[in-house]
Amino acid sequence: MSKIYDLIVVGAGPAGLSAALYAGRSKLSTLVLEKSKTGGQIVITHEVANYPGSVREATGPSLIARMVEQVTEFGAEIKADDVIDVDFSGDIKIVKGEKEEYKAKSVIIATGATPRKMGCPGEAELTGKGVSYCATCDADFFEDFEVFVIGGGDTAVEEAMYLTKFARKVTIVHRRDELRAAKSIQEKAFKNEKLAFMWDSTVEELKGDGILETAVFRNLKTGELTEHHADEEDGTFGLFAFVGYIPHSDTFKGHVEMDDWGYIKTDDEMRTNIEGVFAAGDIRPKALRQVVTATADGAIAATLAEKYMEEKF
Ligand code: NAP
Repeated sequence: MSKIYDLIVVGAGPAGLSAALYAGRSKLSTLVLEKSKTGGQIVITHEVANYPGSVREATGPSLIARMVEQVTEFGAEIKADDVIDVDFSGDIKIVKGEKEEYKAKSVIIATGATPRKMGCPGEAELTGKGVSYCATCDADFFEDFEVFVIGGGDTAVEEAMYLTKFARKVTIVHRRDELRAAKSIQEKAFKNEKLAFMWDSTVEELKGDGILETAVFRNLKTGELTEHHADEEDGTFGLFAFVGYIPHSDTFKGHVEMDDWGYIKTDDEMRTNIEGVFAAGDIRPKALRQVVTATADGAIAATLAEKYMEEKF
């Protein structure tokens, strides 16, 4: 019979690693499963200036490397395996990986979410070089620069308003002629003098030699293409895309309750609707998807998982 762990954590981003740290410190036998590499979204972030204490050597990969070291020091096992199915129907939960099947008394789902991409040429190459998906992370790089925000939902409009505190001008580029954002958010946006709007438009292509220099926009009604070139003195500009998020929850569909967008619903203590199954980090519905909120979720989930096991087994 295969080993029954106390806890299996699915996903080794900040939420999963924080959960594993707390579980390891509580001497729970803990297995962390990660399909590709540890770290999640944060390893593609060069600078992590908004995680308290990370002032020196604060890159995404270095922060994750330290978290992994700490987690393994406290006894958690980290394995590379892609979780393809689960069975949460019994007291012992079954997690099926591509390589092996695992069993545990409790499970924390910390599989994260990724920003949806615009899907235009140049986007991937210029990410982190002018193209961003996180205003909280990157706004200060664009102090007094020009910035474009793509999307017309709540996130796009709220983040665009936040960016006006840094950039000299922010233009919202939306594919229709009216915003999707809530009316209350729209009202504030239309009053903001630093905000401009480019309607019925999408990004056709992004160009630049190692840094974003040109954006080509297409007017979807007329088909007309317009190019925006970086101001000569600035050399670049910012382009923030907020066209939705994709939660990594497909494997868990039908096994735990989710909201309309595929985020796993939890209470304030990270419990899902299934006893012994918790969710932490970006995979939950939440207002702020950051390392600091993910790690907090992970700590709470592990603590409550321990409490659950004490009472149940
Ligand atoms: P969203 O509501 O799905 O909005 C995505 C926006 O991106 C839409 O305007 C959409 O255009 C546009 N879009 C999608 N794909 C695109 C593409 N390929 N190219 C160009 N534009 C594209 O996503 P969200 O703003 O991240 O919000 C997600 C959820 O969180 C929503 O329920 C929202 O209400 C909630 N939220 C709430 C608050 C708040 O209450 N303060 C703040 C943030 C988020 P269309 O409009 O044409 O579809």
